[in-house]
Amino acid sequence: MKQLAKFSILLSALTAGVAFQSAAVAQDKVLNLYSARHYQTDDVMYDTFTRTTGIKINRVDGDDAGIVARLRAEGAASPADVILLVDAARMVSADSQGLFQPIKSARLDAAIPANLRAIPTADGVTWTGFSTRARVIVYDPLRVKAADVATYEQLADPALKGLVCTRSGSHPYNLSLFATVVERLGDQKGEAWLKGVVDNMARGPKGGDTDQVKAVASGECGVALTNTYYVARLLKSTKPEDRAVMEKVRVVFPNQGTSGTHVNIAGAAVAKHAKNREHAVQFMEFLASPFAQDYFANGNNEFPAVKGLKIDNKALASIGGDGFKTENIPLGVVAKNMTKVQQMLDRVGYK
Ligand code: FE
Repeated sequence: MKQLAKFSILLSALTAGVAFQSAAVAQDKVLNLYSARHYQTDDVMYDTFTRTTGIKINRVDGDDAGIVARLRAEGAASPADVILLVDAARMVSADSQGLFQPIKSARLDAAIPANLRAIPTADGVTWTGFSTRARVIVYDPLRVKAADVATYEQLADPALKGLVCTRSGSHPYNLSLFATVVERLGDQKGEAWLKGVVDNMARGPKGGDTDQVKAVASGECGVALTNTYYVARLLKSTKPEDRAVMEKVRVVFPNQGTSGTHVNIAGAAVAKHAKNREHAVQFMEFLASPFAQDYFANGNNEFPAVKGLKIDNKALASIGGDGFKTENIPLGVVAKNMTKVQQMLDRVGYK
């Protein structure tokens, strides 16, 4: 009896040891990814990461706000290792809520332009852009001259009175753009510009970017702002009505003769309480590889963030996306200017 008891203790210790070991191994091979990106092409990218590293990816999908809410609720117990969010304004907001941790990676430093990342501290960099999208002007050539929409600044010119349409000024896409406009023009001129845009509106801000493009095509608006991937989606659409929309409008990459067109990012960060930190950094570095960049960018008709890489996207190329001057203001300034811009929007009545 005594022998048996001893044996069973030994056995359970052994099996516990085995269980512990395999749990440790399994844990070593896992990366928990919280993603606000949902493109089928991303699966190929993740499968390749798992095949080459042996690290299995557990993905939690959500929208940007849902992921941030979940991270806050989970706190230190959060299993999240890497977080994928869209737009610098959202990155900056999550960062300011303490949801990320800084990392140091010589590979990322070399691959990704500094203006597409958080502003570094002595501890490293919190978030990194992995694809870019440009915020462009779309206009109706029957009502608006190309020369009147060459810059963002002109959106406030009296020549465009009653013609301008945008989505909400407080939407992250606009907040990020406005934060860099204010950075370039200064507070006083920046706020005057926002007021001028409001004064030129054809109607109050509403809808998403695609709605603005359609509103230009329908004649409700003469000029609008949109991210480039929405334009590419309309161009690639199988619906004739979508392609008809694109036949009625023209696309301008603003500020080509001056500061360059505003670009924003979809990006990633290592979670504050990541349990698999090394794998998280490894995954971030993988996202900067030419292979992953092609999927990451093309999956949503975006541009690669890595220096010198180009993607083959005929829709983007057809609107001039294969070579344009980009604004080089660090997207990290969005952090500095976001609250200020929101206050300006309130003062000038930009809903
Ligand atoms: Fe979008």
